Amino acid sequence: MSDLSCAKKVKTRKIHLCELCCRSFPIGTEMIVYSGIYDGDWYKYHCCETCAKLIPLLDFRDDGVGQGEMMDFVAGNDLKTPEELLEKLQNEKLRK
Ligand SMILES: [Zn+2]
Repeated sequence: MSDLSCAKKVKTRKIHLCELCCRSFPIGTEMIVYSGIYDGDWYKYHCCETCAKLIPLLDFRDDGVGQGEMMDFVAGNDLKTPEELLEKLQNEKLRK
């Protein structure tokens, strides 16, 4: 569990990689910046909007999501992009 964290939506001013899916996003993309302290260490990372929406839908371990780990979930569902995974999970939720 994290001790302290915050998420903030920003418009990027340089090219950033999404921490979760490792894709790079151009300047001017809206991304979520997560920052906080975990186990005494300061962290900060950018995450694309799609991955940010996926986090609460997926069953991640307690210690959060590792770098590039979103693509494991995407591949595990026989999909190619986080957008496809988001659509699939949202559809599943609607059917319940
Ligand atoms: Zn992403």
